[in-house]
Amino acid sequence: MIKLDNIKKTYFRGNEELPILKSVSLSVDEGEFVAIVGPSGSGKSTLMNTIGLLDVPTSGSYTLDGVVTEKLKDDDLAVLRNRKIGFIFQQFNLLPRLSAIENVELPMIYQGIPRKERRERAQQTLENLGMGQRSHHKPSELSGGQQQRVAIARALAVGPSLLLADEPTGALDSRTGQEVLELMLHLNEAGNTIVLITHDLHIAENAKRVVTIRDGLIVSDSMNKLAVDPQEAVVAHV
Ligand code: ATP
Ligand code: MG
Repeated sequence: MIKLDNIKKTYFRGNEELPILKSVSLSVDEGEFVAIVGPSGSGKSTLMNTIGLLDVPTSGSYTLDGVVTEKLKDDDLAVLRNRKIGFIFQQFNLLPRLSAIENVELPMIYQGIPRKERRERAQQTLENLGMGQRSHHKPSELSGGQQQRVAIARALAVGPSLLLADEPTGALDSRTGQEVLELMLHLNEAGNTIVLITHDLHIAENAKRVVTIRDGLIVSDSMNKLAVDPQEAVVAHV
């Protein structure tokens, strides 16, 4: 689904070159749940923005669902992004003036989905996430965990191939964060491909695969036995 090949991202400050991603190659298959961890400033969000087509790399190749993205113009990148990718952020990024259901409908407006269908899909997605009773609340009338559920509903409603989450539990207390984690594990079991950035080791422990990035380089990439097959991991430990 995702194939990054020798991706480099360099920022320039005056004449100074700031290499942020230094040759990152990474493949993610459909149905995976990958956690990306690493110290602050290591390039995690830069990598996420590249995968999410919010930013273009300085060099290298990125293929998403078979589409070679570096050949696309900005408009086509935006179309691909809207069609394929659902974003979840630390600060939820809901529009405060809109109700929960209006927030969920927003990306579907960009996709030109008719009003009636939009409403139905938004309501259904909110219901699936346990937020059906709250669809007409404004974000300020919802708890942090509820706001993140609305944001997840917004990401899901367009039926993306890929869910990208940058510190989705970073603004939540640990119990609420755990609920959001469980929701994402559930979504993955239901077939969603998820790539998530986290500082939270507990979340990383629950991902099937953990990629560690340091100073703009992937320094480890391993399957997490515990998350893949808890039973087997227990046996292996005995
Ligand atoms: P955190 O865990 O704190 O969110 P991160 O791993 O997500 O960190 P990035 O946001 O990817 O880190 O940033 C990596 C480096 O790139 C940082 O040193 C940052 O200052 C730098 N950087 C990010 N965006 C820009 C930009 N637009 N111009 C210049 N430097 C940038
Ligand atoms: Mg970041």
